[in-house]
Amino acid sequence: MAHVVCKPCVDCKYTDCVVVCPVECFYEGERMLYIHPDECIDCEACVPECPVEAIFLADNVPDEWKEYIQINADMAPQCPKITEKKTPLCEQ
Ligand code: SF4
Ligand code: SF4
Repeated sequence: MAHVVCKPCVDCKYTDCVVVCPVECFYEGERMLYIHPDECIDCEACVPECPVEAIFLADNVPDEWKEYIQINADMAPQCPKITEKKTPLCEQ
């Protein structure tokens, strides 16, 4: 099990989540962040930090966003790690 970043993160990319992750398992894509499923320890620290409620436990991902479970697994290993907060895309 792992936590999953879903569609609300697309083109917004607030990064409040990354600074609280104790295992630094967030990765930065061009339009959203991804959580590496092999690294996430399900601590839930990131969930309340996300202002757009984009992060869910894999089991609790809403049906319309189930594809994001695989998208996070596929994309996280291809993207650079992100551990510091940045200006969100929607505010640049
Ligand atoms: S806080 Fe939410 S919207 Fe922002 S980068 Fe993290 S998951 Fe994406
Ligand atoms: S649930 Fe915990 S370990 Fe997983 S991404 Fe969120 S902060 Fe990191």
